[in-house]
Amino acid sequence: MGMPQLTRNQSLVLGALSHSEGPMSAYTILDKLRDQGVRAPLQVYRALDKLLEYGLVHRLESINAFVACTCPHEHEHDHGVTAFTICEGCGQVTEFHDEAIEQRLAVLVRGQSFKTEKTTIEIRGHCKSCG
Ligand SMILES: [Zn+2]
Ligand SMILES: [Zn+2]
Repeated sequence: MGMPQLTRNQSLVLGALSHSEGPMSAYTILDKLRDQGVRAPLQVYRALDKLLEYGLVHRLESINAFVACTCPHEHEHDHGVTAFTICEGCGQVTEFHDEAIEQRLAVLVRGQSFKTEKTTIEIRGHCKSCG
């Protein structure tokens, strides 16, 4: 697979997310990129769709926001189960992956004859500094 060739808008959106301290909504991304010629929400949504597909960005459903993926991408990227802690104080998001959780969930889902598309675990709470 390798790194996909990104369009200008995709690079801008990914750049904005990578430099952000925390997750951003599509409209916050749009605001950041206005000066660079991105004017329509649809441009941001299209770029986000592709970045999500490439696994370079994650959507946090519970807060309707996006974060850049923080796992290394040198090799083909299969996310399996992606888990996030989301601080409700400062908005800090940490991404992590755990093989034991992945395997356990896979067993449970197989028992239901269910075909998984993606699994995202969002753990809401407070980080160390926000206690
Ligand atoms: Zn990731
Ligand atoms: Zn916090």
